[in-house]
Amino acid sequence: MNLVLLGPPGAGKGTQAKLLEDRRSLVKLSTGDMLRAAVAAGSELGRQAGDIMERGELVPDALVIGLIAERVDEDDGGNGFILDGFPRTIAQAEALDRLLADRGQKVDAVVVMRVNDDALVDRITGRYTCARCGEGYHEAFKTPKVPGVCDRCGGTEFARRPDDKEEVVRSRLKAYHAQTEPLIDYYERQEKLKSVDGMAEIGAVQEEIDRALDAA
Ligand code: ADP
Ligand code: ADP
Ligand code: ZN
Repeated sequence: MNLVLLGPPGAGKGTQAKLLEDRRSLVKLSTGDMLRAAVAAGSELGRQAGDIMERGELVPDALVIGLIAERVDEDDGGNGFILDGFPRTIAQAEALDRLLADRGQKVDAVVVMRVNDDALVDRITGRYTCARCGEGYHEAFKTPKVPGVCDRCGGTEFARRPDDKEEVVRSRLKAYHAQTEPLIDYYERQEKLKSVDGMAEIGAVQEEIDRALDAA
């Protein structure tokens, strides 16, 4: 099953993608993670994308489509892919449909996570990750069991994203409403859309996604 997780920045896509990856042995592909890796590596792509990301705008379609095409080609995906943060424009969605069709596959389901904009700002400004293993946390909503120690790997260093500042979050939300929200209609027309309440607790969201997928 190839699954798309759709939703505004901070909706919980990364959190749920990780949980799904373990439960359904799917391969998670996050264009945000791939772009951040390119920036950290100082590659040509990273140089092109870095400033755009810091402003909270979308990186050009051709660049992210290229990244996804490469990964889909080299990885057999096992049981399928979970796409987190891709597609984000209609052009990307069309490119994904073509890419999968070439492999005799398709997008099987799209989960859209609904969260209101005010909650998103709190989610993003409180977000941090383990510097060693990447596990995601939140100052109020998901704290490590032992303060300052990562639950998953025992690491004690944590990192925040440079674009998780309030003013950048506002422009990321604007980009979502203008460029990404039209995908809800796009997938609705393909009868693939499952809508879940992203305001619920992490475990409850996980259960609602499971029920939606089992019914798919
Ligand atoms: P979020 O957690 O806000 O959903 P991501 O980690 O998915 O953020 O993306 C971070 C940034 O990377 C975006 O603000 C954008 O600049 C860039 N980006 C990630 N995925 C895409 C994409 N599919 N198309 C264009 N830009 C992207
Ligand atoms: P996205 O990938 O959509 O940008 P994340 O999964 O990184 O979002 O979640 C953003 C922040 O909100 C993280 O700090 C995460 O721990 C927290 N979070 C995720 N889901 C929930 C939820 N259902 N309730 C409260 N906080 C959440
Ligand atoms: Zn860790």
